[in-house]
Amino acid sequence: MKVLVVNCGSSSLKYQLINMESEEVLAKGLVERIGLKGSVLTHKVNGNKYVTEQDMEDHKIAIKLVLESLIDKDHGVIKDMNEISAVGHRVVHGGEKYANSVLIDAEVMKSIEDCAKLAPLHNPPNLVGINACKELMPNTPMVAVFDTAFHQTMPDYAYMYGVPYEYYKKYGIRKYGFHGTSHRFVSKAAADFLNKDVKKLKTIVCHLGNGASISAVNGGKSVDTSMGFTPLAGLMMGTRSGDIDPAVVTFLMKELNKTPEEMDAILNKKSGIAGISEISSDMRDIKKGVYEDNNDRAKLTYNMFHYRIKEYIGSYVAAMNGVDCLVFTGGIGENSNQNRHEICTDMDYLGIKIDEKKNDEAIGIDMDISAADSKVKVLVIPTNEELMIARDTKDIVTLLK
Ligand code: ADP
Repeated sequence: MKVLVVNCGSSSLKYQLINMESEEVLAKGLVERIGLKGSVLTHKVNGNKYVTEQDMEDHKIAIKLVLESLIDKDHGVIKDMNEISAVGHRVVHGGEKYANSVLIDAEVMKSIEDCAKLAPLHNPPNLVGINACKELMPNTPMVAVFDTAFHQTMPDYAYMYGVPYEYYKKYGIRKYGFHGTSHRFVSKAAADFLNKDVKKLKTIVCHLGNGASISAVNGGKSVDTSMGFTPLAGLMMGTRSGDIDPAVVTFLMKELNKTPEEMDAILNKKSGIAGISEISSDMRDIKKGVYEDNNDRAKLTYNMFHYRIKEYIGSYVAAMNGVDCLVFTGGIGENSNQNRHEICTDMDYLGIKIDEKKNDEAIGIDMDISAADSKVKVLVIPTNEELMIARDTKDIVTLLK
């Protein structure tokens, strides 16, 4: 069975075609600047890159071009579109309705649309992508895999905010959490790596990329996570503030005479690592500032980033009354020994100790980096959200037969 995984943004589209028997990626790629001048498709097969520059008015044209690339005589990987058994779509927000992935039908489309209010930047392009695929492949089953679904197991006292209860009832104001597909993949992969039953493990997953979140996974279920009503909450990220006193928002809006949209842009696009350092949103640039340029602002940013992560780890140990396994994933978590070193320093009270040599070797691979006398297993596990989406899609479509 071959499954196409599609992740649509407002002007971009990422895809992978996966052979589910071997779980091998047959082809993958990215379309950028959809609806803008200078659209470009980068299609990759076996490490070779094929670039098509052609203006693409909308997502339907982009997906048509992707399908053509997949069946292309020279660099295609399938003979016919019918070889694609199913399409798995990443959908950001499933609200309280979806705790699992689902086969897309008219009701699911309506629910994704209803959730657009909660994720105005993400759900509408996700829907556009689903519609475009449905038009081009009307007989192929489609599955929605929600970023929020895994965190639907959080208890009410963890996901509620201390604001008037009627706002929860009327507007759905609560913590939803995001990156769920990654947290689910990584927590399960960590249990498999340790040869343990996920149901018997208390795991803390640190997904540290440009966007970053931490989750507490008890017995395979998410019991808390750092992102909230939106992906702005929690850790300090590339350009997002993470947690701040909410009174700062109203204070600045009044002081600077900012509209809600302007304030939103400041917190989402101008804050975090970029806002504090005034150097870059990229952790590699911050590390250069710390280790090579002796830059004070880079040092402050670096310390803030790690301190917040340590705080969350501590609070999730308390939430679960213990932790067996701490896992690092995401661009920073998978690749940066220095950041992992900083986070795990002075955590021995909690039973967390890493082997520095192993930590230095763990770059983009599954690896146990715990010290021999560490009570808690510390692992690096590269995330693979696309594979998780493809697996869910395969499972759901197989049930149809
Ligand atoms: P996204 O949230 O966009 O999916 P990724 O998980 O791909 O992001 O992570 C991208 C981030 O990973 C970049 O901001 C970059 O700073 C960081 N990164 C990648 N490699 C390293 C490294 N060796 N050291 C520090 N940071 C790194």
